[in-house]
Amino acid sequence: MDVSSLLDGLNDKQREAVSAPQSSMLVLAGAGSGKTRVLTHRIAWLMQEEQQSPYSIIAVTFTNKAAAEMRERVEKVSGSNMSRMWIGTFHGLAHRLLRTHYQDVNLPQTFQIIDSDDQLRLIKRILKSLHLDEKQYPPRQAQGYINGKKDQGLRPKHIDAGGFPIEQTLLQIYQVYQESCDRAGLVDFAEILLRAHELWLNKPHVLKHYQDRFKNILVDEFQDTNAIQYAWIRMLAGDNANVMIVGDDDQSIYGWRGAQVENLHKFLEDFPKAETIRLEQNYRSTGHILKASNAVIANNPERLGKKLWTEDKDGEQISIYCAFNEMDEARFIVGRINDWHDMGGDLSKCAILYRSNAQSRVLEEALLHKGLAYRIYGGLRFFDRQEIKDAMSYMRLINNKDDDAAFERVVNTPPRGIGGRTLDILRSTARQQELTLWQTCVRAIEEKLLSGRAANAVNGFLDLIVEMQQDTAEMSLHNTTDHVIRVSGLKVMYETEKGEKARSRVENLDELVTAARTFILPEESEDMGELNAFLSHAALEAGEGQADAFTDAVQLMTLHSAKGLEFPVVFMSGVEEGLFPSQMAMDEGDRLDEERRLCYVGMTRAMEKLYITYAETRRIYGRENFASPSRFIKEIPTEHAEEIRLKTQVKAPARVKPAMARTTVVNDSGFKLGQGVKHPKFGEGKVTGTEGSGAQGRVQVNFADVGSKWLVVAYAKLETC
Ligand code: ATP
Ligand code: MG
Repeated sequence: MDVSSLLDGLNDKQREAVSAPQSSMLVLAGAGSGKTRVLTHRIAWLMQEEQQSPYSIIAVTFTNKAAAEMRERVEKVSGSNMSRMWIGTFHGLAHRLLRTHYQDVNLPQTFQIIDSDDQLRLIKRILKSLHLDEKQYPPRQAQGYINGKKDQGLRPKHIDAGGFPIEQTLLQIYQVYQESCDRAGLVDFAEILLRAHELWLNKPHVLKHYQDRFKNILVDEFQDTNAIQYAWIRMLAGDNANVMIVGDDDQSIYGWRGAQVENLHKFLEDFPKAETIRLEQNYRSTGHILKASNAVIANNPERLGKKLWTEDKDGEQISIYCAFNEMDEARFIVGRINDWHDMGGDLSKCAILYRSNAQSRVLEEALLHKGLAYRIYGGLRFFDRQEIKDAMSYMRLINNKDDDAAFERVVNTPPRGIGGRTLDILRSTARQQELTLWQTCVRAIEEKLLSGRAANAVNGFLDLIVEMQQDTAEMSLHNTTDHVIRVSGLKVMYETEKGEKARSRVENLDELVTAARTFILPEESEDMGELNAFLSHAALEAGEGQADAFTDAVQLMTLHSAKGLEFPVVFMSGVEEGLFPSQMAMDEGDRLDEERRLCYVGMTRAMEKLYITYAETRRIYGRENFASPSRFIKEIPTEHAEEIRLKTQVKAPARVKPAMARTTVVNDSGFKLGQGVKHPKFGEGKVTGTEGSGAQGRVQVNFADVGSKWLVVAYAKLETC
């Protein structure tokens, strides 16, 4: 491709960024202004016009899907094969680095990645071995503590817990957790980044090698990098690399996970010569959608401030639909998609976005009911399913017997008479003697530490794994998978279970054999062996692998996972106070801004048509709530939106009659939904939910001053007003 075509299809500002002389650069621009397009073209430009070798380029994207798309786009623009090029997510790239330099970071060659479920399980085990009460030290809190510290680059030795007993205990948990991961050769997600950062810190010659190599560093979605990611990039860049970052402060939605918008400022300080280029033309959305999104985000304070306009027509107004309840909402959405499909539209052009994963179930049911194909992007994913994780754990054990997370998962699955007490003994011995569970079992049997029955059961398990390992040594990957599923007893276990769920588990196990058969060993992973590469693939790509581009299907995903994507027709569902913004965010000011940015991300995914829906009552998380439309809806100027009234009378859903839902539900609590009330301390508010009766009766009140609260009727001293 020649120069002109490389710059074709770009506006002046975009061209300026793509063809700038080699230097560092920040492209700061709103949604849909072509940031990702600029980044991709820049890579091609560097190769073609600046004669930079693909070997000298490293590009960071936010998801594996985005990485694959970018690789493809660069291949198209440059006309060459880019399979070995360093394009990937922070985790993917850091993992690749650790595989090459495992010795430099003190990891065994067979190290394995654990996901957050495995991590939680390990933490629970550690709490037990430390005799800590889960109620006092919730495992999730410990998990958040550990990951948070790692994201800041902190090891236990760097942390001063001061005189705070809780912090001291959390620190101790972190310490013990880390020791047991190290013994077992396990790394969690945060650890991948931390180790990669420590590789730079502790092995200057390795860092120098990569600094000499990667002269061009490009980062998409930069606003969502966290401290350790930025530190990693900063060190890799050294004094000589050219770093191009693209991002949008208005789309920063991972603050809760430690991402720091301040990194944008830090970048400008660290790279004082970097020029800032702003893109202002939006190519994605029609006028109404764009103007409405701009109006919503304008309510946030402390923005870097950007203009965004479109040459496109105003297009259709945003449609807002108020549903009776979540089932009515789902029916409305699916009805619209069905109409679109009947008129010849592709299902894959429609996306349904939601704030919380739990919302998908009702939507899925409605889609199934209408017979429309759908795909959940980033939801409960193939490699996350119980039976698949069971099978993979056996495979992990034959790869590395010291893998404690895998050991824990399957030592008694299927049940083989290894009881909780035996496991407790093994765990605490492992901890005292600083051994892995496998090593502990071997020793316990040699030294006769277990009772006869327990020893037999444990011995049986050890023999099973050793035999599997021997039997599969020369087998292909898919034969190994098939062998493991059968010999472990997993398949029989699920086959003998009754019901639809069990049947689908067996199907999934079969599907795993297919996945192994079709697995292609990536070129860069040739050294690590097929089994090891397959296990890493499962851990890293879970959640994104299932998007199969060949079937036409409606796309379902959370607002978070929609970042960077675009669809002609978008439905944003559940746009209600308490759900979006979430209750937690409503209680904390900063989080509210982040929710608004999430709303901006959601709205700006739409190219031609945006629907926003909310329900007056919603049963979610096992509770029924009466909700009011989200404040974000109210922030949309009326000229850009229309409220949809259905022409035909919608049959009232069985659970709640519409008229009742709106005004006259009087339940045992004695309060009507929507009724005005006054509380001696919180002031005036409206009843938005009720639960239980008599002494247990509770009401949810949305107070004008203090927001939403659940109150026990018997104590609340509420007056009606
Ligand atoms: P986000 O902030 O959501 O990640 P973005 O700034 O990365 O958005 P892109 O995804 O690169 O935006 O571009 C949005 C859409 O506009 C894409 O479909 C892209 O192909 C198209 N586009 C970008 N620039 C131009 C252009 N100059 N002419 C025509 N279409 C363009
Ligand atoms: Mg983008």
